[in-house]
Amino acid sequence: MLGLAGNEKVSHLVRENSISKGLALRFVAGETFEEALDIVRRQNEAGLAVTLDALGENVSGEAEAAAASQQYLTMLDGIASAKLNSTLSLKLTMLGLDISDDLCRANLRPVLEHARDLDTFVRIDMEGAVYTRRTLDLFYGFHEEFGDHVGIVLQSYLYRTGLDVEKAIDRKARVRLVKGAYAEPPAVAYPRKETVDAAYRSEMEQLLEAGNYPAIATHDEALIEAARDYVARQHIPYDRFEFQMLYGIRRDLQEQLVKAGYNVRVYTPFGRQWYPYFMRRMAERPANLFFVLKNLARS
Ligand SMILES: Cc1cc2nc3c(=O)[nH]c(=O)nc-3n(C[C@H](O)[C@H](O)[C@H](O)COP(=O)(O)OP(=O)(O)OC[C@H]3O[C@@H](n4cnc5c(N)ncnc54)[C@H](O)[C@@H]3O)c2cc1C
Repeated sequence: MLGLAGNEKVSHLVRENSISKGLALRFVAGETFEEALDIVRRQNEAGLAVTLDALGENVSGEAEAAAASQQYLTMLDGIASAKLNSTLSLKLTMLGLDISDDLCRANLRPVLEHARDLDTFVRIDMEGAVYTRRTLDLFYGFHEEFGDHVGIVLQSYLYRTGLDVEKAIDRKARVRLVKGAYAEPPAVAYPRKETVDAAYRSEMEQLLEAGNYPAIATHDEALIEAARDYVARQHIPYDRFEFQMLYGIRRDLQEQLVKAGYNVRVYTPFGRQWYPYFMRRMAERPANLFFVLKNLARS
C-alpha cells in the first residue's frame, strides 16, 4: 500500500472511483476549505481542538509551492476570522523542499510570521526519512526566531529519534510524537512493530516529563493508557501536554479522553489531493483495505 501511495496509474484509478473516493472522505474533511471549516466548528463544539492540513505533497513547480504558501496564509485568516480552535499542519515538500531549501524557507517564512501575528501555531509534519535531516535543520533555524509558534514531528520508528528527542527537550522545541507512516528500509528504521512501540513509550515518557507541551499522537490504546498512568504517577498536570488523533479514526476514544479532562486535538486534512494520505491510512490497518475490497466487490 505504501509503495502504491506514489504510483501515478493507481492514483488515477483510485481517485476516479466513486467508492474509493467516498471511503477517502471518511478520513478527509471535504475537498474545500469551507467544508473543512464546518467540520472544525463541529469538532470544537464537541470539545476537540483541531490542526488543519491542506492535502498535497511533493510539489515540483515553484509556482505551485508559492501557491501553497498563499493557501496557508488564507487558512490562517479563515480560522482566525471564524474564531475556531485550530492550528495549522503543513508539509515542507508542499512548500518546495524538493526544489531547494532556500525556496522552501522563503515560502514558509511568511506563514510563520502570520501565525505569530495571529498568535497561533504551525506544526511542520515529518515526511519520509530522506527529508528528516533537512526538515529538522530548517525547523531549528526557524525555531530560534519563532519559538512556540512553530513545532516539529518526530517518528519513533527511526533509529535517530532517541537523540532527536533529547535535542528537542534541550532546545524546548514543541514535538508531536508519532510512530511513523512511511515505508522505510531497515537501514534507518526499526522493522518490527514491537520495537517501534517500545521506542515510542520511552520517548513519550521523556517528553511528558521534560518536553515543551508534547503532543502524544497515536490511536494505540495501550500507549494512551501508558501515558495516562505515567502522568498520574508523575503528577504531571493535564495542561502540560495533549493527545492527538487523526480525523475519522477512533472518534470514540477522542471523546472518551475529552470527557476525562484531557486536551485532544484532531489532525484534520482536507483538499482534492487526498490520494497518498488515504493510502497511508489504508496501509495502517488491514481492516481498512478489506473494507475497500468488500465495497468494490459489492459494486
Ligand atoms: C495527529 C497525528 C499526526 C501525524 N503526523 C504524522 C507525521 O507528521 N508524519 C508521520 O510519518 N506520521 C504521522 N502520523 C501517523 C503515524 O505515524 C502513524 O502512522 C499512525 O498514527 C498510526 O499509528 P498508531 O500510533 O495509531 O499505532 P498503530 O499501532 O498503527 O495503531 C493502533 C490502533 O489504532 C487504530 N488505527 C491506527 N491507524 C488506523 C487507521 N488508519 N484506520 C483505522 N484505525 C487505525 C487501530 O485500532 C490500531 O490497532 C500522525 C498521526 C497522528 C495521530
